[in-house]
Amino acid sequence: MAVKEPNRSHCVGKGKPVSVATTPERCAKRIVKRNACALESMHRPPVLPAMKYCSNCGAPVEHRVPPGDTLPRHVCPACGSIHYQNPKVVVGALAEWDGRILLCRRAIEPRQGFWTLPAGFMENRETTAEAAARETLEEACARIQVGALYTLFDIPHISQVHLVYRAQLLDLDFRPGEESLDVALFDEADIPWREIAFRSIERTLRLYFEDRRRGHWPLHTGSILPSTNPPLD
Ligand SMILES: [Zn+2]
Repeated sequence: MAVKEPNRSHCVGKGKPVSVATTPERCAKRIVKRNACALESMHRPPVLPAMKYCSNCGAPVEHRVPPGDTLPRHVCPACGSIHYQNPKVVVGALAEWDGRILLCRRAIEPRQGFWTLPAGFMENRETTAEAAARETLEEACARIQVGALYTLFDIPHISQVHLVYRAQLLDLDFRPGEESLDVALFDEADIPWREIAFRSIERTLRLYFEDRRRGHWPLHTGSILPSTNPPLD
């Protein structure tokens, strides 16, 4: 699939969306970079990583069903360790400022060059709300007040769970973090729908604007299944 170029000639067109720390020169570099890796930016569902050696003792592991279990695991015959692999939790924030939404343009794969809400893998020893605030700080250098959990999507074919919190941006002092090319506030009319990186994020944004019109904010849950047109999650 060809990746469409953005309608904007650079990232600060028409006075909207609001973008920071951005110049046309920087944006030109980004567009070239994006073209060079357009095909590579198509995300492919990960397979479970193969493990050859035990991370506990270094011995070669076996792939078999442990006694009393139902699924094959990486089992170490030397030290007895069973290396479980479980789904990963991805947490993000839908941060508002005066009716506009904070989006980040990804500087890294998968989906480099596409827009998303600030989001990422939850770390050990933090809450999901802390993860949402941390990811927003890392990717957009932005401080937020985290509100209610808003969407939760199971994505079983890539063994992930995606959670997005509603949030309030605390000030306009934001800029692209290491993993972002741009950070900007978008009105609904300016959301780059054809350049949203992930289906869970697109669904969250569409639900948000529907709920805003209705004036109520339920928690939305659901599943995202494999897509062949094109793979977006
Ligand atoms: Zn071992």
